[in-house]
Amino acid sequence: DYAASAGDAWQLHGGSDEGDLSNELSLLGELDDAVANGEIEVAYQPKLDLATDRITSVEALVRWRHPTRGYLRPDLFIPIAEKGGRITGLTLAVLERTIADLEAWAAAGTPVTGAVNLSAKLVASREFMGLVRERIERAGIAPSMLTFEVTESAAMTDPAGAAAALGAFRALGVRISMDDYGTGQSTLSYLKQLPLDELKIDRSFVQFAHTNRGDAVLVRSTVDLAHELGLKVVAEGVEDAPCLAYLRSIGCDMAQGYLISRPVPANALAELLAIQDAQAAA
Ligand code: C2E
Ligand code: MG
Ligand code: MG
Ligand code: MG
Repeated sequence: DYAASAGDAWQLHGGSDEGDLSNELSLLGELDDAVANGEIEVAYQPKLDLATDRITSVEALVRWRHPTRGYLRPDLFIPIAEKGGRITGLTLAVLERTIADLEAWAAAGTPVTGAVNLSAKLVASREFMGLVRERIERAGIAPSMLTFEVTESAAMTDPAGAAAALGAFRALGVRISMDDYGTGQSTLSYLKQLPLDELKIDRSFVQFAHTNRGDAVLVRSTVDLAHELGLKVVAEGVEDAPCLAYLRSIGCDMAQGYLISRPVPANALAELLAIQDAQAAA
């Protein structure tokens, strides 16, 4: 049980009520300094492999340690960064941090793979693709240790373009995951067309899968469909044990959520991995 040892170290602030225009403009102005000053931090949330009961993978979730406002949640500043043309720099900062931490965990003898979230705007960006290629060539880990999570909306604006762009990322050796699956408008044909390795079922379906018949049908059939297409399935937002047991019973591959662990700082994640290794050896 990792939940007890992994309390959330972040007191996150943010939300639509705080998102007025003057606030947005000042945050946008501060964002460049934030990247330069190292205020952009990364929290890691484990993905639990249900076949082995081990943490084999983590998702990188960006946090901004703002000098006066405290920790800011991504929902508050990612949209501002996207609109203000700062998302490339921000995502690169997250990618570089993640690669460095993956390298450190591998060096410590507790290797895990890591996922970085990609804004829709970056999926088709040639500039970003070039920067990613550079970082991956320099990295001390195999490209297959890295996954990019993209949402359906990223793929939906231009499905053919998205398929080509994601294929180019995949040609670098990184894995592609479809995030928040079920909340967008993607059709079965897009699912077949896109070069994917993983599907993450959105929390809104997962949460009640073990108590609501409709949600159960959706989650179970999505797991089966994904498996038929050769994709791994991750259930996000798992908050209680009966939910996890249900996911196990239907053959879901991985689970992520507060039950397993909240997003934690890199050093806390290293501790989780060390404890897990010690338990396996005992
Ligand atoms: P996401 O990629 O779907 O990440 C999952 C979000 O759900 C995270 O919120 C996580 O803390 C939260 N979560 C995880 N498990 C549970 C659970 O059991 N219950 C509940 N209620 N929530 C859970 P967070 O960290 O605030 O991130 C929100 C969104 O911001 C992410 O959704 C992702 O779309 C975006 N994001 C985060 N980091 C980045 C980044 O580096 N770049 C981009 N473009 N987007 C990012
Ligand atoms: Mg994600
Ligand atoms: Mg998600
Ligand atoms: Mg989600």
